Amino acid sequence: MNLVFLGPPGVGKGSLAVRIAKDYGLLHISTGEMLRAEISAGTQMGKLAEKYINDGNLMPDSLIIEMLLSKLQCSTAKQGYILDGFPRTLNQARELDKFVQIDAAINLDAPEEVLLKRISHRRICPVCGKGYISYMMSSNLCEQCGVEVTIRDDDKEEVVKARLEAHNKRILPILNYYKETGKLINVDGNDTMDGVAQRVRLILEGLNC
Ligand code: AMP
Repeated sequence: MNLVFLGPPGVGKGSLAVRIAKDYGLLHISTGEMLRAEISAGTQMGKLAEKYINDGNLMPDSLIIEMLLSKLQCSTAKQGYILDGFPRTLNQARELDKFVQIDAAINLDAPEEVLLKRISHRRICPVCGKGYISYMMSSNLCEQCGVEVTIRDDDKEEVVKARLEAHNKRILPILNYYKETGKLINVDGNDTMDGVAQRVRLILEGLNC
């Protein structure tokens, strides 16, 4: 089963993708995480990505598509995967369909005030990149590295507003594309993680793949 998870920043798409991937034995592929790993490793790609991400802009399609396609060729991707954060443009969605079969595009959404509130609680480990929700942490240290967690540069309020605006503009053609190809499934993301995960599981059980 190959899935695309769509949704604005803060909707809980990443945590949900991790959870559903674990339940169904799928590979979770987050293009944002891949880019942050490149930045931490100080690669050429990371240096480019840093500027785009910190300015609240998308990476150029050609670079991100190339990076994703090489990931999809690795053996663990053969068991099926969830794409989280890709596609973000209509061109990316079309290019993806040229190379792989996507079974469903799960679109999560929630009101903007809910999204802004959730993002203000997001934290990340500057060493390993593990994500946290501040009020769910027993201390402000990463449980893997023991270093203090921080707010992602692109989670700062003014950058988030730009990201939400950009997302709203770009998502419509992608949603229309998946609607036309019969793959779009809308899910209400304004619920607890358990509630949303249960809804998605029911949907996946109804899919014939
Ligand atoms: P995310 O962790 O998914 O919110 O991604 C963080 C940032 O990485 C985004 O704001 C973009 O700058 C960049 N990025 C991630 N995925 C893509 C993509 N599919 N296309 C272009 N840029 C991306």
